[in-house]
Amino acid sequence: MAVYLDYNATTPVDAAVFDTMAPFFTSNFGNAGSIHTAGQRARAAVDAARESVAALLGAKPSEIVFTSGGTEADNLAILGTLARMVPSPSDGARRHVITSAIEHHAVLNTCEDLQKSGVDVTFVRVGPSGVIDPEDIRHALRHETVLITVMHANNELGTVQPIAEIAKVAKEAGVAFHCDAVQSAGKVPIDVNRLGVDLLSISAHKIYGPKGTGVLYVRSGISVEPLFHGGHAERDRRPGTENVPGIVGMGKAAELARSQLETDAPRISSLRDRIERALLEKIPTVRVNGDPMRRVPNTTNLTFPGAGGEALLIALDLQGVECSTGAACSSGAVEPSHVLTAIGLSDDDARSTLRISLGRPTTAAEIEEAIRVIPDVVARLRAISPRAAAEAPAR
Ligand code: PLP
Repeated sequence: MAVYLDYNATTPVDAAVFDTMAPFFTSNFGNAGSIHTAGQRARAAVDAARESVAALLGAKPSEIVFTSGGTEADNLAILGTLARMVPSPSDGARRHVITSAIEHHAVLNTCEDLQKSGVDVTFVRVGPSGVIDPEDIRHALRHETVLITVMHANNELGTVQPIAEIAKVAKEAGVAFHCDAVQSAGKVPIDVNRLGVDLLSISAHKIYGPKGTGVLYVRSGISVEPLFHGGHAERDRRPGTENVPGIVGMGKAAELARSQLETDAPRISSLRDRIERALLEKIPTVRVNGDPMRRVPNTTNLTFPGAGGEALLIALDLQGVECSTGAACSSGAVEPSHVLTAIGLSDDDARSTLRISLGRPTTAAEIEEAIRVIPDVVARLRAISPRAAAEAPAR
């Protein structure tokens, strides 16, 4: 039995999403920018999707900007905000951005790139819980701070950050606040007004929609400079012919996420708790990373000291269990995950860590299969690991 437990990397397109998208590849192929009937049909579908996404986020439809994914939404939020604030030649003042050390690379690398163009960036640290202290954000504020960007749920740990509290700090300082909610959408309720964010990113392929479609929520009154130059699509914020099938898919996925969240979350969290408890019971010296009381319902992140993550991943894959050693985009890279080292894991422990992320299609039978397979594979790897042998209690 194949058991996919990597839903934080991506999710399958829901059958209802696929069916909604299909006609927009073929019969309803119009350009949403065209005036004729085919164009109007596409435009109406884009507008309906915009309303559906707005409803998921508690936003107004006019505040929704469709993008090519979470990465572009993050880039548009950060670069688009900074571009509005480029110092004029007479104003030599530097600009300052605050983010956290555990952001996804879509935010982290964008901020690092800003540093090359003379922007100061503070990467706020986190403790072992993986939760950012809003007071640390407050202490990082400077007169020149123009943007705070902090993720809602961490992609590796699942840890949920105190976004409303950080938003309060940002508001008091009069600084724009962006939140990467790619990993929390569909898993916990999101209301942009309750959270108090100015900008918020989500991605369709994490919520059973298609890859290559995302959204940036932009609060009314906040403006971002477009990343690209072209026509007037998305109210001049994202030029280019709209990806109508992708947008329609995003709309349907958002509708399902909204209607199913209340039933999905408790079911998935009880399966997550079942596998976590069973692995803690069956395998000696396993540790759960992050704050178990503040996480999305589908994720657990476990360190198995002495069982190298890459080897563990491959051995599990051979037994049909698919999970991740960290963010999907960093799999294949030899460096340990920046998130795990940021919360204080040694390089070795970070490499001996698995992220198990469940999804809407996950069944109890799949979880029992993973519980059967994982302890055996860990025991086999530990038996041949020099580190595990060195750390084994003397007999
Ligand atoms: N932000 C977070 C927290 C993510 O987990 C991801 C994807 O893994 C992204 C951004 C990037 O989203 P996309 O894959 O849609 O570009």
